[in-house]
Amino acid sequence: MLSVNGLCKSFGTHKVLDGVNLTLNPGEVVSVLGASGSGKSTLIRCINGLETFEAGSITVDGFDVAKPKELAEARRRSATVFQQFNLYPHMTAVENIALAPVEVLKRPKAEVIAEARALLDRVGLAHRADAYPAQLSGGQRQRVGICRALAMQPRYLLLDEVTSALDPEMTAEVLDILKVLATTGTTMLFVTHEIAFARSISHRIVFLEKGELIADMPTADFFSERGRSLPRVARFLSKLQ
Ligand code: ADP
Ligand code: MG
Repeated sequence: MLSVNGLCKSFGTHKVLDGVNLTLNPGEVVSVLGASGSGKSTLIRCINGLETFEAGSITVDGFDVAKPKELAEARRRSATVFQQFNLYPHMTAVENIALAPVEVLKRPKAEVIAEARALLDRVGLAHRADAYPAQLSGGQRQRVGICRALAMQPRYLLLDEVTSALDPEMTAEVLDILKVLATTGTTMLFVTHEIAFARSISHRIVFLEKGELIADMPTADFFSERGRSLPRVARFLSKLQ
């Protein structure tokens, strides 16, 4: 289980996360919704150890990200896909995917390359395996980014607005892949603006407002009276229509 308890994070005097509690159980798809600036990316960055925090704790399968000796184990269990693809420009798609399993997990290169090609096939990109990022469309690059995360065989996949930089057609390509992952048991914490999509794939919705996690409920409840009875959720949902 991935567990966030009483997480508080400030930048200077600005409190960005205020007592956030969240759990993600194996097999669950949980979407994180909230306005821009509500702290969603900061939450993801705290979970994967890219930001320190003042109070609370985060454990990934029991490994505490705030303990230097446990961070590597915690990180090994989760993989993050960001809005910006961050692929290495001088490496092909398959080389980008294979890099971390070889360098970090010390796995045999030939085996990893074969797996990377199989992952590209799963996302419809077998024919682009040897292309460089500059030769790929945005949607293709993000699909490579997802393969790169999956190549680490993470227990938890964290996705931070992975479609925000894409046009609608490319967004659809990427969401199709995520739908398959969601329905085949991949555990995901999914930060998104794609509300309809979040509704269609998530077991639970959590809602952040100004750093406070003010709702955490089954998806059907969030989009029904129970969610709408929270004024801030109602306001957020009404703005979308
Ligand atoms: P979201 O992803 O929900 O849009 P963020 O987590 O990116 O929100 O940001 C939450 C708040 O923290 C915002 O007010 C943002 O300006 C602030 N913030 C984020 N990163 C930093 C930083 N490195 N330094 C100072 N303030 C930051
Ligand atoms: Mg963000």
